[in-house]
Amino acid sequence: MFSSWLTGLNRGLATPTGRIAQLVGRSLSRSLQLSSRRSVPELSSFVARTNTCGELRSSHLGQEVTLCGWIQYRRQNIFLVLRDFQGLVQVLIPQDESAASVKKILCDAPMESVVQVSGTVVSRPPGQENPKMPTGDIEIKVKTAELLNPCKKLPFEIKDFMKKTEALRLQYRYLDLRSFQMQYNLRLRSQMVMKMREYLCNLHGFVDVETPTLFKRTPGGAKEFVIPSREPGKFYSLPQSPQQFKQLLMVGGLDRYFQVARCYRDEGSRPDRQPEFTQIDIEMSFVDQTGIRSLIEGLLQYSWPSDKGPVGVPFPSMTFAEALASYGTDKPDTRFGMKIVDISDVFRNTEVGFLQDALSKPQGTVKAICIPEGAEVLPVFLKANRNWNSPVAKLVMEEQGLGLIRRMENQEEDVVLLTAGEHKRACSLLGKLRLECADLLEARGVLLRDPALFSFLWVVDFPLFLPKEENPGELESAHHPFTAPHPSDIHLLHTEPEKVRSQHYDLVLNGSEVGGGSIRIHDAQLQRYILETLLKEDVKLLSHLLQALDYGAPPHGGIALGLDRLICLVTGAPSIRDVIAFPKSFRGQDLMSDAPDFIPPEDLKPYHIQVSWPTDAETEKNSLNPPHHPES
Ligand code: ASP
Repeated sequence: MFSSWLTGLNRGLATPTGRIAQLVGRSLSRSLQLSSRRSVPELSSFVARTNTCGELRSSHLGQEVTLCGWIQYRRQNIFLVLRDFQGLVQVLIPQDESAASVKKILCDAPMESVVQVSGTVVSRPPGQENPKMPTGDIEIKVKTAELLNPCKKLPFEIKDFMKKTEALRLQYRYLDLRSFQMQYNLRLRSQMVMKMREYLCNLHGFVDVETPTLFKRTPGGAKEFVIPSREPGKFYSLPQSPQQFKQLLMVGGLDRYFQVARCYRDEGSRPDRQPEFTQIDIEMSFVDQTGIRSLIEGLLQYSWPSDKGPVGVPFPSMTFAEALASYGTDKPDTRFGMKIVDISDVFRNTEVGFLQDALSKPQGTVKAICIPEGAEVLPVFLKANRNWNSPVAKLVMEEQGLGLIRRMENQEEDVVLLTAGEHKRACSLLGKLRLECADLLEARGVLLRDPALFSFLWVVDFPLFLPKEENPGELESAHHPFTAPHPSDIHLLHTEPEKVRSQHYDLVLNGSEVGGGSIRIHDAQLQRYILETLLKEDVKLLSHLLQALDYGAPPHGGIALGLDRLICLVTGAPSIRDVIAFPKSFRGQDLMSDAPDFIPPEDLKPYHIQVSWPTDAETEKNSLNPPHHPES
């Protein structure tokens, strides 16, 4: 019975809202199938309706039903299409005198009003079935109707195909959520999280522990939001992640912790970032990198929606050094090639000034990528048929040109992009160009990245420290200061700390970082040395953690998956805002409620806070570099 209900649900979402709804419907039903193998969800328990709009079929013929939903369409005051989260159903508006009041209710109610109707499920007259509509064989012959709440004139139509700006969607998010697409995204998210809980708690004995969101400043890492307190000059900070708590839970003997954790980072806006976001946060005692990797591979395999294809495990892995050298980034998109090639040796005896210059420097290299069919989209620099169209062409000796072609294996219509400079800078430049070129080629119809492909990759062997951006003479943690050094590099900590690799691993999916974690330092002395001596942090801020490590802390490690980003990639949504019910705008504002908002001075008094209003010049500077936190 369940599978026929599902098939129905599938078709239920398919019409008449067009192709998106069709795709959405198909995926929704398939993923429902995945999570509901064990029990069929009872969708009409405890409520006024007997059935959902989308579930009715010929098998319900003759049944008396009560439905609740929103008016999607009305035709000639004869038909009305009612919608709920599960689909659409046609309601026959009674035309006889005796039912005049029912007719009036159903004909007067504006679109998107919410109504309750009761009546009988009947067959549509022969020839009037709608095969595209999952409920298209039947209709509801209404006996009674009640207008539960009328709807005012809407700011936009609730139809997926109606284009609306994102700002308008966010301003009226509660209406935007009625769309099939948003319903699909949020329901798929809920199902994946449910499966993750099931896998972690029921299959592997993890304990779901909530950790505080009112906390104190953590040294290193992202910028934190601050919350005033009633103690003069004292502030809480919102945690950028439950990192310290999860480690302390290991000291506390919890052994296996997880949490669907809300994290806060006061960082600049980026398309795939939100100031508050959710992590699947995990920590385990007595584990090594292999253990964490297998756990995550199993977790993703188990929670993956069945219609997105199987997840192949184990995921491949690549060292940080290899990722940088071949892809110019620590999060390579491995769905396509166009890898970076070191061609320094080809140009060893070059007469081209900038190449000569670069190669004479200690870290100097020449690197290239080959863009297949790139001649379609880029001005040609060096043609494989030797008809070189470039100002430097005459300086490139015949032999070098041929060497380059041989090395890059480029074809007639390919384009080779070449850069010279210090290894890391040259690679990261070509890494960016590689992605830009992929976008350009795809815009021209060359398919490089299969949208149905999910390419997972572990990136490992990161350096433990990186030179600080603002002061390259100082070090900062590549991951966070609690990450353990690679056992084979520990001896370098006191002599050449910048050469120490770490036990940090990142999970990358299609070129996006969807997770990261590490094996932690569980030795208080080593932790203190790294914080105090190498990172020059104020250890007083972390005295509780250092103390805890001294009381028999078990070896431990963990990881956090960025849930919003992961769901965004799974659903193929254009932005992470599309998989969050109430996201902040690009500039960190809630466009619906207008947060952050002003607070009257008298309400700030208990916190001993006074606003010092910015000057015009400061305001201008901030608008170029927008803050997205309450001014306090
Ligand atoms: N807390 C880390 C983060 O948010 C993840 C981890 O190391 O487990 O990136």
